[in-house]
Amino acid sequence: MSNTKKEQFEFQSEVKQLLNILVYSLYKNKEVFLRELISNAVDALNKVRFKLLTDKDLPDTDLDLKIEIGFNNTRKTIVIEDTGIGMTKQEIIDNIGTIARSGTMEFLKTLSETDQKERSNLIGQFGVGFYSSFMVAREIHIITKSYQKDSPAWIWKSTGEKDYSIEETVKKTRGTRIELYLKKEEEKGLLDTFALRTIIDNHSKFVPFPISLEGEKLVSTEAIWAQPKSSLKADDYHAFFKFIEHTKEEPETFLHLSSDAPVQFNAVLFVPKTSLEALGFFKEEPGIDLYSRKVLIQKGSRDILPEYLRFLKGVIDSEEIPLNISRETIQNNIKIEKIRKHILKQLFSHLKKLKTGQRENYLRIWNNFQRNLKEGIISDFNNRDKITPLLLFHSSNEKKDELIDLRTYVDRMAADQKEIYYVTGPDGASLAHNPALEAFREKKLEVLYLIDPLDEFVIEHLREFDGKIFKIAEAADIRLDRDKDKTEDKSTVKRVEDFIKYLKTVYENRVADVKRSNRLVDSPCLLVHAPGAPSIQMEKMMKLSNKDYPFAKRVFEINPDNSLIREMMRIHDERPDSEELKGLSLQLLENMLLRDGILEDIDHVVPRLQDIMLWAAKKL
Ligand code: ADP
Repeated sequence: MSNTKKEQFEFQSEVKQLLNILVYSLYKNKEVFLRELISNAVDALNKVRFKLLTDKDLPDTDLDLKIEIGFNNTRKTIVIEDTGIGMTKQEIIDNIGTIARSGTMEFLKTLSETDQKERSNLIGQFGVGFYSSFMVAREIHIITKSYQKDSPAWIWKSTGEKDYSIEETVKKTRGTRIELYLKKEEEKGLLDTFALRTIIDNHSKFVPFPISLEGEKLVSTEAIWAQPKSSLKADDYHAFFKFIEHTKEEPETFLHLSSDAPVQFNAVLFVPKTSLEALGFFKEEPGIDLYSRKVLIQKGSRDILPEYLRFLKGVIDSEEIPLNISRETIQNNIKIEKIRKHILKQLFSHLKKLKTGQRENYLRIWNNFQRNLKEGIISDFNNRDKITPLLLFHSSNEKKDELIDLRTYVDRMAADQKEIYYVTGPDGASLAHNPALEAFREKKLEVLYLIDPLDEFVIEHLREFDGKIFKIAEAADIRLDRDKDKTEDKSTVKRVEDFIKYLKTVYENRVADVKRSNRLVDSPCLLVHAPGAPSIQMEKMMKLSNKDYPFAKRVFEINPDNSLIREMMRIHDERPDSEELKGLSLQLLENMLLRDGILEDIDHVVPRLQDIMLWAAKKL
């Protein structure tokens, strides 16, 4: 035994928090601890296999790569041992004593804000790794020896409260042995071959290394992506997905691709049913593991597929990928580029088929991952054409909540319609009340409702679809054909002009212009885009990043056929200096600014409205 002393360390406060949540949460599915430990062992074995392939000079080269699970009825322990990469003392401190992943931190924050019942769901979805073992163990020992030459072995001990100890120990060969000293109430359920085997079967069917329980080898399943499609059923893929994602949930859809020429590869890709990112959690980590002849080369590869497809889970295996590949090679190698192209083509066409053939599935995918696809439109010029048909929009012509694609819109356009019209706003209901749409409604022109702030960037990048330019409705030249059948006498025209002049002086420089509208049917007035100005949604986004961003001035249009405007014109004829008329005029503009959420100084609105109410009340 060595002479190094036992050292005591405190857990990072986040770890303490996580342990506390785990131990006291009502999470029922405690058995997942075994899956987490096996999965750590698999990672460790994958890592050492890689090292052994690239460095012939390591100790223990003849050691089998395997996982052994056993239990001891007298000591009341479960033991999981692997011949993986092991850990140095510093690695133990860094990996076990602290939480490195930023995702875990955010997850914790959210967890501490959710209620108990919701919490247990989230724990299951997230996979809390090694620490989950403290749900069943009152004390854990980790005995580990790094694969590196002359590395000493260490024993880590903790009761999962606030601290742990590390001390040198004896272990002959590389790898990690985890000993769980079970809590009294867990002993009965877990110290049993059948129970443990059931847990392993349920959660760890696809372990790519030999695994034995109490000395008996368990049957392991071949890498699913290397098997012929004809021999696999949907259930097999689902089980594989559950295994790699540590989840109970089935995937929304999957795709199995194989090719021998011009490049060899096998891939199994999954679209999950939920998106933590869409739920407002952290940005997802890429979920495609890269293999070469079944050897794991890169877990969660950032380079094989474009970043916006980070929601995809699964495996790409190709013998074209050299073992010691660098990130640059993955990005620039011609053969890998071919694989990427092939996979993306198949993926987008698969999604397109779902869109028409399995609408419900597609709508869920859209709900969860529309942001990713839109990111693709913006960032992936080469695939823009393939992603465009996948886009869905709300529109003025659809029943509430129905979504259409651009093809449907264009197919429904009138023969003489040349542009694709859209409006932007926070939700469909408020857009439906947008006065700018009155003329469109009357002329039966369909307008797309862009309610996701990203949509506008998408439209900007697309510029056109099927040769039709996108045009924001407020700036479109859509007029009512009233003037033809209505002759207005000169004096009325003059009165409107005078009133407009009056409004311009009242509004000073708050608007770009005041005009008579020919696109309003019922509403008194409307704020429209000055040519070239960004939309309000876009401006609001700018404002978020820069508080001093000034909103562009808009054109204020009035409708002289509206009774409120008529009354105001009457007052203007009779008493052009009326204070009340000034108040009404200001309120008219500010109502519109309020509606669009761009009125910056609102303190005087309520007193003025109360004045106006008083005038009205006196007349009653
Ligand atoms: P995760 O596996 O998600 O990273 P864990 O808390 O389960 O989170 O594990 C933390 C880290 O501890 C792992 O990333 C790994 O570096 C190390 N580790 C855990 N188990 C083992 C093991 N059996 N062999 C080697 N390293 C391990």
